[in-house]
Amino acid sequence: MLPSSTVENYLKAIYQGQSTLDPGERLVSMGQVAAALRVAPGTATTMVKALAESGLAEYEPYSGVRLTAAGEKLAGLVLRRHRLVELFLVQVMGMSWAEVHDEAEQLEHVVSERLIERIDQMLGRPTHDPHGDPIPNPEGTITRRDLDTLLTCPIHEPLRVTRVADQDPMFLRFIENNDLKPGQPVEVEARETAADCVRVRGRNQRTITIGARAASKLLVEPDRAADDPATCLAPDPRGAGA
Ligand SMILES: [Zn+2]
Repeated sequence: MLPSSTVENYLKAIYQGQSTLDPGERLVSMGQVAAALRVAPGTATTMVKALAESGLAEYEPYSGVRLTAAGEKLAGLVLRRHRLVELFLVQVMGMSWAEVHDEAEQLEHVVSERLIERIDQMLGRPTHDPHGDPIPNPEGTITRRDLDTLLTCPIHEPLRVTRVADQDPMFLRFIENNDLKPGQPVEVEARETAADCVRVRGRNQRTITIGARAASKLLVEPDRAADDPATCLAPDPRGAGA
């Protein structure tokens, strides 16, 4: 079977489903795959069976699906193309980080290996895309990191936004307008469990209150630069042009 754009989109959806599995879970449910691709469950099942016949996935009827090593590699390479294209569109073409995802959804299926290698070289072998998502290496593998979200991180501690786990342009513009893009400093002032919201202090000491759902999509890490005044002003490569 040829790796058509449909096949690539299935591989990507299963791959991303696998990354959100709870510990102990092995298979991505067919319902989740169908929902991610906005197709009828029957359509998804037919396609997943074809992937299994090609050796790209393991399919267990009534349980779900999981990629084989070969399937994971192909999925990683699609993500690599997608994320490098996004970064290229932002850094070189000057597009907004809020609008590049849809373009990359198309281009990820058509850019050649040669062009991707040139883009990677030109951008200085970047490790993250404009949304803070890790760029897989040329073998299609990603180094996974467990990151806190604004819902799980410690409060009253200097943090830095690392990744925004939502590609919706409206949400991304909201994040940008509130200085919460990857690379920017942030601190949780309080969590109001009763109101289901989080009060955060961002750059320029600006305070805003965001809902728990939005907070769960902002991934953060300890801001090490805050402990060390000498590196405080060094630009974060992930934030550059993001
Ligand atoms: Zn994207």
